[in-house]
Amino acid sequence: AQPVLAVVGRPNVGKSTLVNRILGRREAVVQDVPGVTRDRVAYDAFWAGRRFTLVDTGGWEPDATGLQASVAAQAEMAMQTADAVLLVVDATVGATATDEAVARVLRRSKKPVLLAANKVDDDRLLADTASLWSLGLGEPHPVSALHGRSSGDLLDSVMAAL
Ligand code: GDP
Ligand code: MG
Repeated sequence: AQPVLAVVGRPNVGKSTLVNRILGRREAVVQDVPGVTRDRVAYDAFWAGRRFTLVDTGGWEPDATGLQASVAAQAEMAMQTADAVLLVVDATVGATATDEAVARVLRRSKKPVLLAANKVDDDRLLADTASLWSLGLGEPHPVSALHGRSSGDLLDSVMAAL
């Protein structure tokens, strides 16, 4: 079977936009309203001559457990079912308490975990991404899913880990 990459992170950081960027088509549901992607959706993806399965997560209802627990649970599930996990954070916001909770879960992973610092639409935001080392997941990979900036470099790192 082909390797599975799961994309996790809190709502609105740009997971679905990044998935669309990787797929090269507008297919994953993208909305300004958090929680619109109802389920985990798996796509067939292709990069550098290799096929892999790309899982977009989201759709956590703000249920009794709260957002932070829901996102952490998604990360836990991703960790168990995928071959590698990509945590997406919003570089324009920095690491939030929810990001830190998810990172805490993912640091226990025996599988590769990569960190994408999304919404780095221009160079002025690059310096801010250094603070994301604090998540303890290694090097933050700056990308702009919206504009495609550096998404190829991120994918090269992903494929090296898969
Ligand atoms: P998700 O909830 O994590 O799947 O986030 P979405 O992909 O639905 O994106 C949430 C919002 O962030 C949308 O308005 C996107 O257009 C916006 N967004 C996503 N990627 C970028 C980016 O690289 N730069 C900027 N400026 N906005 C982005
Ligand atoms: Mg989404």
